[in-house]
Amino acid sequence: MISFNMDEVIIILSEDEDPCCDTALNDSSVLFVEVKENVVQDRPLSAQALEEDLVVTFSKRAEVLPHARYDCPLYPFTRAEYVKSGPIDSNHQFCEQCFCYVCDKLASLCPLWCVNKECHCNSHQRSGTWSRLRNSADLGHLLAFDFSLSDVDSKLQLAERLLGSFRKELQVEFSCFVRGKMLSDNNSLRPHMNGLVHDYTPVYGCVTSFLNKAERQEGKVAAIMSLGAAKDFSSHYQPSGIVLSKCPKANAMEAIRILLQRVMVSVQRLMVMSDLPSDFIHKLQRFALCLNMPVTVGNTRNSLCVRPWDDVLLVSVLKGQNVTGIRKQRSKKDILAEPISVVLMRSELLQSQCRFKAMRDLVALFMCMEGDFSLALSEVSIAAPRFSPALFRLYLRIFETATAPRVHISPQTPFDLPGAEWGPIQGAVPLRRGELVKFALRVQRCCAAVNADAQCWSDLLTIVNNPPGFTIGSARTRP
Ligand SMILES: [Zn+2]
Ligand SMILES: [Zn+2]
Repeated sequence: MISFNMDEVIIILSEDEDPCCDTALNDSSVLFVEVKENVVQDRPLSAQALEEDLVVTFSKRAEVLPHARYDCPLYPFTRAEYVKSGPIDSNHQFCEQCFCYVCDKLASLCPLWCVNKECHCNSHQRSGTWSRLRNSADLGHLLAFDFSLSDVDSKLQLAERLLGSFRKELQVEFSCFVRGKMLSDNNSLRPHMNGLVHDYTPVYGCVTSFLNKAERQEGKVAAIMSLGAAKDFSSHYQPSGIVLSKCPKANAMEAIRILLQRVMVSVQRLMVMSDLPSDFIHKLQRFALCLNMPVTVGNTRNSLCVRPWDDVLLVSVLKGQNVTGIRKQRSKKDILAEPISVVLMRSELLQSQCRFKAMRDLVALFMCMEGDFSLALSEVSIAAPRFSPALFRLYLRIFETATAPRVHISPQTPFDLPGAEWGPIQGAVPLRRGELVKFALRVQRCCAAVNADAQCWSDLLTIVNNPPGFTIGSARTRP
């Protein structure tokens, strides 16, 4: 961000040339300007001037507004893709209002304006390399997460700021750890040892307090802080020397393993329990793939392979439209298999949102489809008080015929299913007449809607009054 003495200043980039001019209002290249009026005093007009059509009664000196150096109206600029060995032509010259494109500072304040191997004076927005350099100056730690300037909101800015100060603190602690402490000569406890002692405990403490701070933040901020910290501490190493303490925190490699596991568990939880957008989750996953993971951490990295809530397969399974958990796409097969920790968190969230009841009422139906009628019957009694007449008649026909409609079932399905094609359920045997009637009477007793429905009674009486072998299904298909 630009800090500037004037109250309000606007820097205008040439919009027609700027490929991302639609974001111009969001980024830091626009500030407001308040220019002192420099008005030429009115003076009395001659009689001849008053007779002319056009009379100039007021004039004002043109102001040069703040601009990027490549847009300077006073000094010509020469563009090249990326030259940093020295200024090209007169690119090093600048007026009072020229700004450095990379640092967003007045050119006169840019510390790298003409510095060899930097040369910000040559920077401009049409060069991909200079643009990336500008973005990295603006995005800081967020660049590694593949965010662009338009993604950055106040939450990401907060995470970036906190990560920045954490990194400085961590650097101090880590270099102290690498330097080590000389084991004092009068070390009476271990007289046989001498040399440098490297104790990772203070570094571990620094990381832990930052992770604690992260966990108190909102989901997005917490995830960026935790993973950003992981990137920093995972590159640490244990120098050769003495480790006095047996505590795992004292040894860098052991401590990193513990800290990484903590980060993975907390980010996994954020991915399931916080309302993170799916593209944000994908950014976190790609970032985690590039982390420097010690071998001892094993497959912890995989713990972040969590499907976003809007994943097509996950949604269809949760709605009961897909009971196999497999989705075929041309030659590819997508199988829903998640770690038990993720499944438990999902059910925790669904229950807290009361979205589970609708699913539970269909469990018996899915058991029927699997051909397990005895298990389905015990499950049915839980859902029976909430049955609709259509659902009751659907169960009755399934139990009676051991066939099922060939349709996707979900809580939104209208269960009368007119015109649906029915087919045999593999491995299922029709319920015996006695059991079927018992089931029907049990539902009639506990579900008022079914009890009050004439068609439900009529179906039951049809079963009772006809010899075994006769089915309502066959009666329905008769003209
Ligand atoms: Zn200028
Ligand atoms: Zn600069």
